Amino acid sequence: MSLAAYACDPARTPGRRHPEPAPPTRTDFQRDRDRIVHSTAFRRLVYKTQVFLNHEGDLFRTRLTHSLEVAQLARSMARPLRLNEDLVEAVALAHDLGHTPFGQAGQDALNECMAGEGGFEHNLQSLRVVDKLEERYPEFDGLNLCFETREGILKHCSRTNAQRLEQQEPGGVGRRFLERTQPSLEAQLCNLADEIAYNAHDIDDGVRSGLITIEQVAQVELFGRHCRQALADHPHLQGRRLLYEAIRRMLSALVYDVIARTQAALDAAAVPSSDAARRLPPLVAFSDGARQEAAELKGFLFRNLYRHPRVMDTTGQAQEVVRDLFVRYRADPGEMQAGFAARNDTARAVADYIAGMTDRYALREHERLTGRKLLAGAP
Ligand code: MG
Repeated sequence: MSLAAYACDPARTPGRRHPEPAPPTRTDFQRDRDRIVHSTAFRRLVYKTQVFLNHEGDLFRTRLTHSLEVAQLARSMARPLRLNEDLVEAVALAHDLGHTPFGQAGQDALNECMAGEGGFEHNLQSLRVVDKLEERYPEFDGLNLCFETREGILKHCSRTNAQRLEQQEPGGVGRRFLERTQPSLEAQLCNLADEIAYNAHDIDDGVRSGLITIEQVAQVELFGRHCRQALADHPHLQGRRLLYEAIRRMLSALVYDVIARTQAALDAAAVPSSDAARRLPPLVAFSDGARQEAAELKGFLFRNLYRHPRVMDTTGQAQEVVRDLFVRYRADPGEMQAGFAARNDTARAVADYIAGMTDRYALREHERLTGRKLLAGAP
């Protein structure tokens, strides 16, 4: 299917920061996707926490499987909207590369440690990974990705950080946060795919963990409705199959909702180009009803799963690991790998080093440096 006029066209990309010849058989966005898949940071995602710590069970989502699900959802919405599938895939696969070990808990702890040193923010860190931290090419740091891919990766950015980025790269990916414009439609689509993915898979993982029950989630209208419809069609459905069938129906409904609502908005605005879309209000969106229901589900998961005492207990220990590591490496940078130890910007080097760790590497390093074994049960 041909791309719509409002889609990002690789033939018209502003390009890469270090100019490279166009790939002979792939588009530039395919090349970006391939570079991301081959990166070290991407392989680490398999041992990084999404919500449940990596060692708590083999079937829970990790950052890697989450990223794959986001890519799947984003692609299945991009194609009917005639947006660029290669670009949404690249952005989706890279969107969480900057996440610390131990999920949100790790990010919060590292951000506290870095207060006064510029802070720590995982979106900005994802950009640092693809711009600076990956060491794979002879002529430049990072992966040297196209503007559109980097734009999509930098989902949020504070004004201070945007000003800093703008200084380093005038007119680059920081600019839109100063001008308050939107990213490409492909980037907008990835943000929504991310939200749809975690709302759905956190129900699955939450029920699997035993911390929430299917009956509890069924109190939330968005899930409850699909659960009731699944039972109406298959009265004997129960347990895991009922859970999966209800989630499957909910996912489909949300995906079709976004496609219909977004196509209508694109048609109404008669968007002539990808750049015109950046200057309009966000066009990729849920319908009002779906947005409210998705927010209700998010609120439910927040109260009952992310703030569950058992999750909070591991959160506390995970934050202790990150804080202890930060203090030890700052006091003695030589404890880090040579490349990080040699850097002049010690605090940022420590943050980059810790952020790159998998859950289990962080725990091993913590035990080596403190003699204490936190989060028992870990390998
Ligand atoms: Mg995500």
